[in-house]
Amino acid sequence: MLHILALGVACSGGGGGSSGSSSGVSGTYAARVANFKATYGKSDEWADWMIANYSRYAATFAASSAKPATLNISFRYETNPINYNPPWASEAEHMNVFTTMAQGAYPGYNFNIVFGGDTNTSYANIIAGLAVNNSYASGKNVYLYYETIFNHEFGHVMKLPHHYDTVAQIGDGLHMPPGDTLCIMDRTSSTFGSACRTALGIPLNITDTTDMDNAMADIIGRYPY
Ligand SMILES: [Zn+2]
Ligand SMILES: [Zn+2]
Repeated sequence: MLHILALGVACSGGGGGSSGSSSGVSGTYAARVANFKATYGKSDEWADWMIANYSRYAATFAASSAKPATLNISFRYETNPINYNPPWASEAEHMNVFTTMAQGAYPGYNFNIVFGGDTNTSYANIIAGLAVNNSYASGKNVYLYYETIFNHEFGHVMKLPHHYDTVAQIGDGLHMPPGDTLCIMDRTSSTFGSACRTALGIPLNITDTTDMDNAMADIIGRYPY
């Protein structure tokens, strides 16, 4: 799994945790923290950290609260299709496997990933097959060299910051609540830690990555580079 995670270089999407208000935690944010604390048995220290770090997660909390029930996502290639080997039987098959990969990191979200879908009405757009290994997110557009970095980049679409402040700190486990050590946004896991999950509104107790792992292996196994 670390091999797959390592396939993406540090992306430029997102940044430190300076966005959002540091004064006056939203009551609805506090309510979600309290709900998650009670539902998943998190500690007082965990809840205190979540409230103290409201500025890191306010934008993601707002985005997750406002997102539509179905996330329509358009997929296209930047220029030429990727020369997958073996090739997909169809782009529909490809989109099905891609969707399984995405659902694994975002349990409870409902992705509808459409090849050549309408980019105007979409919630986000995937542009795959970049010429250089420099995946990133910009607004609702997710630019991918390796498709397997999607779950990290879509985190930026949902306004998540990295756990690291500098590239040298990738994987250091910074800015994590008590009990957490790993997260997609620190590039140390294929799933989100509890802070990002809470901001995203994702259950903390759904941790089976078997389907996602298989989907990632299927995709990366077909990559020609
Ligand atoms: Zn990133
Ligand atoms: Zn995280």
